[in-house]
Amino acid sequence: MSVNEQTADMVGRFAAHVDYLLAEHGVIRLECASSENACALRDLGMIITPAVVDECTYVTAMHELGHCLASDGGHEETIKRERAAWAWAEANVLCWTPAMAADKLRVMGAHGGTRPDTDIRTYERQARLDGVRQQLATTAAVRPRPRGESIAAFMKRRGK
Ligand SMILES: [Zn+2]
Repeated sequence: MSVNEQTADMVGRFAAHVDYLLAEHGVIRLECASSENACALRDLGMIITPAVVDECTYVTAMHELGHCLASDGGHEETIKRERAAWAWAEANVLCWTPAMAADKLRVMGAHGGTRPDTDIRTYERQARLDGVRQQLATTAAVRPRPRGESIAAFMKRRGK
């Protein structure tokens, strides 16, 4: 198998893994163009990520899935939420590669960093998400999780 074939094979497995997790947990994925705009709407059981075409887009999708599936992925404090989503991604990827580690470092800063929280981008993103959330909540296809229902129960019910 050539290097190109091996790479294509790996990317295929990454994409299939994300699809499997989405189906398994009843998470909906919408597509965005760039990892910069990737986000998770935990209360809607939804991630918005670019298509999985390489290691970085794979780890982006896994990180956003972590926001939905990690027990602490929806923590009130941004930094705890980000760390939990990364920890989930790192524990659940098919393999953890240097490119993935570099991607984490880029968005989180040095070990235990606080970059996402001190960043004004967080607030901009949150405002944008609130708009998306409102839009989605009004469409019949996406009903927000009722208050009091656990995220696991909500996703399970919706996944069936
Ligand atoms: Zn995140």
